Amino acid sequence: MTALMWIQVLTHIFLFVLGLVIGSFLNVVIHRFPRRESLIRPRSSCIHCKTALQVSDLFPLFSFIALRGRCRYCGARISRRYPLVELLSALIFIFCHVSYGFSPFFFKYAVFFSILLVISFIDLDESIIPNRLVLLLLLWSIAWQFLYPEVPLTGATLGLLAGGGLFFLIAVLSKGGMGGGDIKLMAVLGFAVGCPLVFVVFLLAFILGAAVGVALLIYRNKMRHDPLPFAPFLALAFFISVFWGWQIWYWYTLYL
Ligand SMILES: [Zn+2]
Repeated sequence: MTALMWIQVLTHIFLFVLGLVIGSFLNVVIHRFPRRESLIRPRSSCIHCKTALQVSDLFPLFSFIALRGRCRYCGARISRRYPLVELLSALIFIFCHVSYGFSPFFFKYAVFFSILLVISFIDLDESIIPNRLVLLLLLWSIAWQFLYPEVPLTGATLGLLAGGGLFFLIAVLSKGGMGGGDIKLMAVLGFAVGCPLVFVVFLLAFILGAAVGVALLIYRNKMRHDPLPFAPFLALAFFISVFWGWQIWYWYTLYL
């Protein structure tokens, strides 16, 4: 391997570990944000024995593997959710670096996807999408619209109206099958990708949601009237659209 390749590999290892550490903080945010608790104090503790965790315990993923998913102090099982969130956060960092290097867009999307990750897991846990986090995404997008616009302001505004409008229509037609949080989140994602990629996000989210919905029906984990939390599908659809949205759009308009 050349020196350049080694630097690349070391950079990715560094970003992977950084992503894990940030993911461990995102776990805290997912747990505490809906309860309006402080994100900094007190230190994280085991939910079973309440022992405050040491810095070495907070070191993500590796400590989970080393301790075989159990608390060091009381032996209680730790949910696999924690290392999963950490791993997803690490993957976000790697994907952003592969696509954007260390350009400003790396920072833009690493933050954007991290907030979406938090929103997704809060929606899974509590079936709510906190307004304050959606507002944060909107402000973040508006700031970047001024700093380094990727789509023209008209395209972004159209994306916001189309995304929010489509979901509002679905909410009305399905008589509440789509929550207010979903409408607002889709509007903000529409603003971020602009027109026409907003339609890619929209379609992908429904394809993913339908696939998982059918799978859950088959395995009977969910009853038919139990609404699926939709934020995870929106987040994944947005993630795919940021990296491959235009390919999907061209493929779609050429062949379908
Ligand atoms: Zn414990």
